[in-house]
Amino acid sequence: MKRIITFALLLCFMASGCTKSDSKLTKTVLAMDTVMSLTVYGGSEALLDEAAELIKSLDGELSATVDTSETNRINASGGSPVEVSAHALYLTQQAVELGKLTGGALDVTLTPVIKAWGFLGGDYRVPTDNELKTLLERVDYSKIETDETSVILSDGMELSFGAVAKGYTGDLLMELFKSRGLESAIVTLGGNVQALGLKPDGSKWNVAVQNPFGEGNLGMLQVEDKAVVTSGGYERYFEQDGETYWHIIDPSDGKPAKTGLVSVTIVCDSGVTADGLSTALFVMGLDGAIEFWKTNGGFDAVLVTEDGEVYVTEGIADDFELASGYEQVLINK
Ligand code: AMP
Ligand code: MG
Repeated sequence: MKRIITFALLLCFMASGCTKSDSKLTKTVLAMDTVMSLTVYGGSEALLDEAAELIKSLDGELSATVDTSETNRINASGGSPVEVSAHALYLTQQAVELGKLTGGALDVTLTPVIKAWGFLGGDYRVPTDNELKTLLERVDYSKIETDETSVILSDGMELSFGAVAKGYTGDLLMELFKSRGLESAIVTLGGNVQALGLKPDGSKWNVAVQNPFGEGNLGMLQVEDKAVVTSGGYERYFEQDGETYWHIIDPSDGKPAKTGLVSVTIVCDSGVTADGLSTALFVMGLDGAIEFWKTNGGFDAVLVTEDGEVYVTEGIADDFELASGYEQVLINK
């Protein structure tokens, strides 16, 4: 009898040794043109494998550089309705909504222009104004139509989800982890970070905001259950004749958005919204971004200007610690 009790106690001890508070597991995944790192507490290797599979299958469905992707099936449709996966349909609808919300600053039909600059699997080059003008005739997110199963895109138009796919992936990973009973997890998908709940010790997660001017961090954010997504000119660019051309494009002229901002970080509940808004607010520039925040709310932001000023909205001001050498400006409603 004694032996049975000892064995039962040992089992209990072993089981409690695997609670969410101390079983940290991590995995690195190469997908969506970036390095992704997944950290879960209280999960399993099998769950991390499942998460990696999910990421890879989303990459295969959504990538504009994979011939067989849903994105390219839509782009090759010649204007006919294309029945697509639930993920591709939902993301298209979200992208159209975010396009509307941001007055077209986010436009997932910019693809022909993005390709002309070489930012989608091509060689970098500077297109002429005339070329951009012609390409922009094929750009208009408001012409995307969807029904319950299909996407309809006019002939000649092309979608790509580079501005929103990682954010959507973050949302799906959080859903997967939650559905398996996890309470603490954090993923880094390139410039996107998404956190589930709090750290196992009950404190907030520390998320570094990258320094857009060089090495190191600009500051640290403390968050609970949030997506933290940064768009920065430094993430992808090329130089020609002393000019820097980066990958965030202003749909109004088809050129890299030079608005005085060098990075935009959005903090909100939804990864896809944070991702769409980080790109769109970069395009809007400082004044437009502040105006947008005041009008719409529902998120917080860190806006960094090329002069090194760091604008922080009031909802995260207490949870953001700026590195020395920068000037912080509070944005109030
Ligand atoms: P992000 O890093 O989330 O800001 O997304 C930037 C990527 O989205 C670029 O590499 C382009 O592929 C694409 N992109 C650039 N400008 C826009 C825009 N204004 N609207 C939608 N997608 C864009
Ligand atoms: Mg984005």
